[in-house]
Amino acid sequence: MSKLLEVQDLVVNFALRNADLTALNGISFSLDQGERLGLVGESGAGKSVAGFSIINLISKPGYIASGRVLFEGRELNRLSQEEMRAIRGNKISMVFQDPMMTLNPVLTIGTQMMETLMVHRDLSQNKAREIAVEKLRQVQIPSPEKRLEQYPHEFSGGMRQRIIIAISMLNNPKLIIADEPSTALDVTIQAEIMDLFIDLCKQEHMGLILITHDLAVVSETTEKIAVMYAGKIVEKGNTQDVVSNPQHPYTKGLIAALPQEGVKAGSRLSQIPGTMPTLTSIPPGCSFHPRCDRRLEVCRKKPPLYYRGENPEGGVACHLFA
Ligand code: SF4
Repeated sequence: MSKLLEVQDLVVNFALRNADLTALNGISFSLDQGERLGLVGESGAGKSVAGFSIINLISKPGYIASGRVLFEGRELNRLSQEEMRAIRGNKISMVFQDPMMTLNPVLTIGTQMMETLMVHRDLSQNKAREIAVEKLRQVQIPSPEKRLEQYPHEFSGGMRQRIIIAISMLNNPKLIIADEPSTALDVTIQAEIMDLFIDLCKQEHMGLILITHDLAVVSETTEKIAVMYAGKIVEKGNTQDVVSNPQHPYTKGLIAALPQEGVKAGSRLSQIPGTMPTLTSIPPGCSFHPRCDRRLEVCRKKPPLYYRGENPEGGVACHLFA
């Protein structure tokens, strides 16, 4: 049986006047039906570009230079715009950090939800309304019949994010790509929304790609993890294996920077020195070498190959494993 999603050696460039800059440099991963994968890394690692590339929504001057994205065995980057539109919002949905990127401020929630349903499915208005009410109920919006008549500004940030989750699930997609879905919310609401979101994904057996800088959230909610740095996946595998026994120096640094239980208030958290390079300043060799405390001479000159562990879907890109 084919995988739900296979991303194979995907390269995404941005065409600038004088040169092409590489934002994704040959990333590969896969997802089975109902599986959840966390794509993690600092800002600028290429996580969001990866999410947008999967659904062919990379904005110009970005373009897919090579590689393939297969969804249920179909190669998405070969589909026409019309075929792709039929998949987006139907079989694959996206949830963004800022609900106002998705919600139209001048339309009621009900109109927006019903339109989403009626564009993709041949439903009567009454049936679309019934489904919209049911989805709002699933995300625990009280009095959903009344709330359908309200506009986005009449809801709190947390409620708006619940509505976005409801909209993303309207057509029972097989895959949701969620880009920092709770980061804009305060910490207590973040945990509530993530719990609800993950419970719904499990109930409906939906695949999830969770794009986030928050390794703690990924470790609690996903089965697979891919750690990104400067447009590459530097380590991937089973989430619990990677979190409990990280191999790549960057993954180790991210885990060491997490707040630890039992550490006294006011103690300093560990930090990875330096910052993520921009697209115009990616160092030669291993792009992490200027920040790596284990670098070897070869690291400055030669990009590391990908070394697989015992799990055929896991591995690490680092010269230490050569
Ligand atoms: Fe560090 Fe070298 Fe491994 Fe890169 S390849 S992470 S610089 S040891």
